[in-house]
Order: sequence, then structure tokens, then C-alpha cells
Amino acid sequence: MATQSSFAEIGNALRKHQRFAILSHVRPDGDALGSQLALGLCLKQLGKEVKIWNGDGLLEKYSFLAGGSLLTEPPGQPEEFDVAIALDTATYERLGTPLKAVHSATLWINIDHHPSNPGYGDLVYIDPIAPATGQILFELIRSENLPLDSDIAENLFAAITTDTGSFQYPNTTARTFEIAAELVRCGVDVGRLSQQLYESYPRRRVELLRALLTTMRFEGGGRVASFKLSLAMAAKIGATPEDNEGLIDHLRAIKGVIVAVFFEELADGKVRVSMRSKSEAADVCAICQRFGGGGHKLAAGARVRGSLTEVESQVLEAICDVVNCHA
Ligand code: AMP
Ligand code: MN
Ligand code: MN
Repeated sequence: MATQSSFAEIGNALRKHQRFAILSHVRPDGDALGSQLALGLCLKQLGKEVKIWNGDGLLEKYSFLAGGSLLTEPPGQPEEFDVAIALDTATYERLGTPLKAVHSATLWINIDHHPSNPGYGDLVYIDPIAPATGQILFELIRSENLPLDSDIAENLFAAITTDTGSFQYPNTTARTFEIAAELVRCGVDVGRLSQQLYESYPRRRVELLRALLTTMRFEGGGRVASFKLSLAMAAKIGATPEDNEGLIDHLRAIKGVIVAVFFEELADGKVRVSMRSKSEAADVCAICQRFGGGGHKLAAGARVRGSLTEVESQVLEAICDVVNCHA
């Protein structure tokens, strides 16, 4: 692992170079996209040439974010950069198709909060305690005196509120609230932003939830809850991949549930496994790493080859070993 860089080293690199590619993980969440847009807008204010790419482009539900039109899918033709920046991305491979579009970059910067991040890149800043990559970017911006206007603030707030489950998860600290307050002072309209983030879902997302709940099952006396989505179910509802972000929280919200799991059949013969834990003793990152994935102790994921039912039984078995379902 590269040694941890300082904000000063990263700040110097941002000031010194001209052409930037800002990237984040496939199947992006609010932290990935908000962080990309915040840093992209910040660098644009410094007069830099900035490309903001994600393998899945800008999701419809985040398209209202300030500067949203700057975030696109990568072009087919590779481009040259001075610096490529990976945000919120636990492994280099999870950057997806933009990797092919970055023909070359003299410097790779990796800023993230996943403990499983191996530290790829030349300048690395990983803070596994930070609840969101957006929080790290706020600290970088403040410590290096970089631009922070209301548009940048909105994106940082979106990143932090989505990755903390609206300031609820245990990694939300006093510092997180101080930063949120600072962002509100910079002009974030909390009511409007929260409505756009949490009260503007398409109706089909709730139809998807209804279908998922018919597959809900419990293991280990109710300590493990799961549901699953087949390609056929998704097609019938017309659900898009982004519709299911956050639906797993309905399982986590059940009293007595320690581990919640969501299985999603993918078109490439793999199953996307999403896991949440309510106890440090049930480390879902460790479980996902056994299946080639990663993430955080309390929120992790993996993509596992096999049929929906095969992967479901293998993964539930592995979870049951950890939470002692058989006891
Ligand atoms: P998700 O369940 O997709 O919301 O992901 C939960 C957490 O696990 C996020 O922080 C992801 O970055 C991480 N994660 C999800 N899938 C993978 C994977 N295949 N490899 C590594 N980390 C992952
Ligand atoms: Mn993320
Ligand atoms: Mn994150």
C-alpha cells in the first residue's frame, strides 16, 4: 500500500496540474456522484480542464445535483490527462469503463473511506473512520483553502447525508454535524435537497419493494433477513438498477435483524450481493471479502458468479456461520 499522503501534497497536485479526470465506482451512490461533482466544480473554479466520468453516467435520481450535466459516461475514444482521481472506490477495478477512457495520467490520486481499499495510486488518502468520501473532501477543501460555493456545498451535503443514512449510522460524529452546519451556512437548502433526495422516487421503486417483500425470508431466529430480485421480476416491473438503492434498509429496520441481505440477479451470470449489519460483531465486509467483494464493516457488497438460488444459499450459509444461526 502506498503511504498515506497529506492534504498539502494533494492540494499541491491539484494546483500544479491542468487536465483532470474525476472518477468513482460503478453503480454509484450519492457519495460517489456528490463527491465527483463537488471536486469537479471546485477544480473548474481553479480554471482546470475537468472531465467527470462514471461508468453508469449520472443516475436520473441525482440529475438535479448542481453541475449534474458535467457528469457523463466516458467517451469511446481514450483521452490524455495529467491527473486521474478515484473517489469513494474500494478497488481500482470498480472504476469500470472510465479506466479505458483514461489513456494516460501522470498521477493517480485515490481518496476514499473504505477500510478494504488497498491504497492503489500515487497519492493516497484513505480515512476509514470518515462516514463519507464527501466528508474527507470537505476537510481537504478547507485545509487547502480551495473554492467552496453553494453548488459545491450542495454536492458535499448530498454525499454525506446519503452515506450516513441521513446522519444516522454510527460513524456519524460531532464533526459530521459541524461540517453539515458549515455546508448549510454555505447555502445548502436542507428542506429542498432532502425532498429531492428522499421524497422524489418513481412509483416503480415502491412496486419493486412490494415484489421484493414477497421473497423476504428470515434465518437464525430472525437475526438474518434477506430478499431477492430476479431478472424476470425486474423486467416485469420495469425497474432500473438505481431503483433498488436503499431498499435493503427496510430489512435492516426490523427489530432483531442483525444482518440484512439483498440478492440481485445480473445479466452477466453473476449475482450482486448487498449486505448491511447492525453489529460490529457481524463484520459484513469480512463476509463479502470471502466472495471477492469488500466495503465497510456495517455495509458491504460483492458480485458472485452463480445462479440466484446458488448464491443465495452459499451466502446465507456464510452469514449464519458468523451470526451463529445454527446455535
Ligand atoms: P452497496 O450494498 O452496493 O450499497 O455497497 C455497500 C458498500 O460495499 C459500499 O461502500 C460499496 O462501495 C462496497 N461494495 C459493494 N460492492 C462491492 C464490491 N463488489 N467490491 C468491493 N466493495 C463493494
Ligand atoms: Mn459509494
Ligand atoms: Mn462512500
